[in-house]
Amino acid sequence: MRSGRARSPTEASVQPSKTDIFPAQIKSVEPGSAAERAGVRPGDQLLRVNGHAVTDILAYRHLLTQGRAELQIARPEAPAFFATPQDHHTLRATEAPTFTFEVEWEDPGLEFEEVLFDGIKKCANKCDFCYVHQMPRGFRKSLYIMDDDYRLSFLYGSFVTLTNLTEADVNRILDENLSPLYVSVHTANQDLRQDLMKWWKLKVKDERTTDIRSMIERLEPIDLYTQVVLVPGRNDGEYLDETLDYLASRPNVVSVAVVPVGLTDHRTNLAHVDTFDRERAADVLRRTERWRKKMLDERGTRFVFPSDEFYLLAGEPLPSEEAYEGFPMLENGVGMIRDFLGEDLPEGLPARVSPRRVILGTGTLFAPALERAVEPLRRVEGLELEVRAIENRTFGLNTTVAGLLTGRCFRHGVQPGEADLLLVPPTTLRYGTELMLDDVSLTELSRELRMDVRAGGATLGELARVILGDTVGVNLQFGYSAHAVKEQRGQA
Ligand code: SF4
Repeated sequence: MRSGRARSPTEASVQPSKTDIFPAQIKSVEPGSAAERAGVRPGDQLLRVNGHAVTDILAYRHLLTQGRAELQIARPEAPAFFATPQDHHTLRATEAPTFTFEVEWEDPGLEFEEVLFDGIKKCANKCDFCYVHQMPRGFRKSLYIMDDDYRLSFLYGSFVTLTNLTEADVNRILDENLSPLYVSVHTANQDLRQDLMKWWKLKVKDERTTDIRSMIERLEPIDLYTQVVLVPGRNDGEYLDETLDYLASRPNVVSVAVVPVGLTDHRTNLAHVDTFDRERAADVLRRTERWRKKMLDERGTRFVFPSDEFYLLAGEPLPSEEAYEGFPMLENGVGMIRDFLGEDLPEGLPARVSPRRVILGTGTLFAPALERAVEPLRRVEGLELEVRAIENRTFGLNTTVAGLLTGRCFRHGVQPGEADLLLVPPTTLRYGTELMLDDVSLTELSRELRMDVRAGGATLGELARVILGDTVGVNLQFGYSAHAVKEQRGQA
C-alpha cells in the first residue's frame, strides 16, 4: 500500500472555535498512567487539550504528538436528562468542577467511550440505492444512521461520498495525512453521479466537494480505496468503462470494488431501479476483466475487484485466492466466498460419526456453491447433512446474500425439532456477539427451534470441524457483515 505524503500540521484547520466544547466521556484509565497519577477516574470528561476543544480521537492523538499537552478534565455531578447525549455531556461538563494535568511525549492512558466527541457526520445525499431508505422498521437505531464521516472511513474503513465535507475537513485530511480513505465513487461522470446520488444543495457545505474528479485530485497525497455500486442501465456498460478509465489514471486510487445494487422490499420514496440478471452480470465481468489484465501488466495489481455476487449471478468461476491480492475488501463482499473456501476440508475425514442431522442455513445465492463444497462430507456415515437456502423474509426475496439473513428468516426457514444442529453463517451475527441483525440471539433461536444453533466457521475447514463436533481451534470470528463495522465502532 502506498502511504500518503505528510504535510506540516495546521492547527487552524483542525480546531473548532474557542466557544465550542465536546466533552469526551472517559471509559477507563490505564493503571500507572499519567492520568491515573493525576487522579482521573472513569466517568470524568476530557474538555480541552492545550486550551482547544477536541472533536474526536484523531484530533486528540494528533495534539499529543506535538510534545507537551495540558489536558483539562471535568468531573460532572449526578447525571440529568437531556435531549441528546451530546447536550447531556456538554451541560454536565460546563457546570462541573475541572482540573488539569500535563504530559510530555507520553500517552496519558485514557480510553474514551466513543471515538467521535462531536457526534457523527451525516450524509448530504439521497442515493437511489440508499440502504437506510430500504430498511424495514423496528431495527436498532444505529442501523438507521445515515453516516458519511471521513473520520470513520480512516478509522474503520467505512465508505464515504465526500459530498458533505467542508474546506476545513479537506485541509484536515491533508494536514493529518488521514490515509487511506474509502470512497464511494459510483461513477466519474458528474451529471450521472448527481442523478444517482441526488445530493441536496442545502446540505452540501461546499459545492466543490461534490465534484468527484476534483476531490480525488485534491486528495492526491491520500490513498483511496474506492467502490462503485452498479445500477443496471444507469452506471454500468460504457459508463463503467469511463469510470474505470478515470480511476485507473489517478495514482492515489489503490483499487475499485464493484458491487451490484442491493434492493429490498422496503424501498420508500426512492426511484425505481433494476437488478442484475445473468447477462448484465456477465457484461460487468467482461468489462472489468479487461481492466484487470491491463492494470496487472501496467501497475502490478488487478486494481478492479468485482464482488462475489457478479460471479455467482453470471455462473462464472471465482478468481483464485491469489487474484484477490490479500482480500482488502472482504467486508464489501469481494472475495468472501474464495476466502471461505481457502481452508479446505480437513484431511482424513472420519468414516463415521454418531448419528446426527445437520442443517447448514445460508442465503439463496451461496447455497448451490456450498452444496458442492460440502459434498465429500456426505460420505461420512451417520451424518445427515442438508444445505438449506433460507429465503429472506425480512428484506424480501430479492435479498439473496447470507449476511442479511435475520432470526425471523431462520424461524420461517427451519421447523422446530427437524434437526439436531443448525449452523448459521457467522456474517449474520453482530460483531463479537451471538445476536442477529434483528437482535434475535442464537440461544433464543435454539430454544424455539428445539435444536442446537451455532455459527458455522469462517472457512470451509472450520465449518467441517463444527459439523463433525470438533470445535477446538475454530475461530468463530464475527465481523465481516455489512452491519459489523457500525457495531465494532460501538454505535449499537
Ligand atoms: S450516502 Fe447514499 S447510501 Fe449512504 S446513507 Fe447517504 S443516501 Fe444512503
